[in-house]
Amino acid sequence: MGILNVSSINMHFGGLQALNNVNLDVRQGTVHAIIGPNGAGKSTLLNCFVGRLTPDTGVVDFDGISLIGLKPHEINQAGVSRVFQTPEIFGDLSLLENVMIPAFAKRDGSYRQNLWAPLRGESKIRERAMAALADVKMADKAGMIANTLSRGDKRRLELAMGLVQEPKLLLLDEPTAGMARADTNATIALLKEISATGLTMVIIEHDMHVVFSLAERITVLAQGTVIAEDEPAKIKGHPKVQEAYLGG
Ligand code: ADP
Ligand code: MG
Repeated sequence: MGILNVSSINMHFGGLQALNNVNLDVRQGTVHAIIGPNGAGKSTLLNCFVGRLTPDTGVVDFDGISLIGLKPHEINQAGVSRVFQTPEIFGDLSLLENVMIPAFAKRDGSYRQNLWAPLRGESKIRERAMAALADVKMADKAGMIANTLSRGDKRRLELAMGLVQEPKLLLLDEPTAGMARADTNATIALLKEISATGLTMVIIEHDMHVVFSLAERITVLAQGTVIAEDEPAKIKGHPKVQEAYLGG
């Protein structure tokens, strides 16, 4: 049994079967990559784990609880944090403020409904936010306005916004998308450090260099169907995987 057990997920958009009987087991403390050509269903699957989408059928069990039907903030409070494919940061706030917001949100539930909540425990949360910025090597930029960051730094800010929630499972949707090679390599090193702390991560990634640098287990999706799940060495030469990439 893993920390995340997913079985028989089906999801359609109109006439399109985006996910077709998807099964997935993520073991505690591992980095599990989900790969596949564009449009394979990777983001859709992730959205089913965080309550943004409800699959037509299927089971998503996380750490002993069923996530199907839970609201995004309830899933978040259960210990699942997510780093989005498109950065969702607060551009005109400082980095420190950006990282404090998800910490409050996790503690208080949906922060949109709690705007009036007094900033209880603010100094403690400020400390945790600084620690999360240090984890992504951006403590020296804590006072900068988020909009002024490079694209790579915005992605790392988002990572801090996930880490500050002290999740049991961190979901990352293409954490190096749009990054130059040097930035990608820095992010790989960072994610390796984070993984070494024992945090379980599910990472959706296009870049095979990133996948093979980090993943201990790989699930390959093509047209909504799992065509392979194995350790990286076995995925590399898998004929179905080669076909999906070359043919896709
Ligand atoms: P990936 O992340 O692997 O690139 P997605 O999960 O984004 O793929 O998309 C899988 C398929 O579902 C694609 O064909 C995409 O166009 C379609 N799709 C995704 N989201 C929606 C939506 N909200 N409405 C309609 N079709 C969608
Ligand atoms: Mg996607």
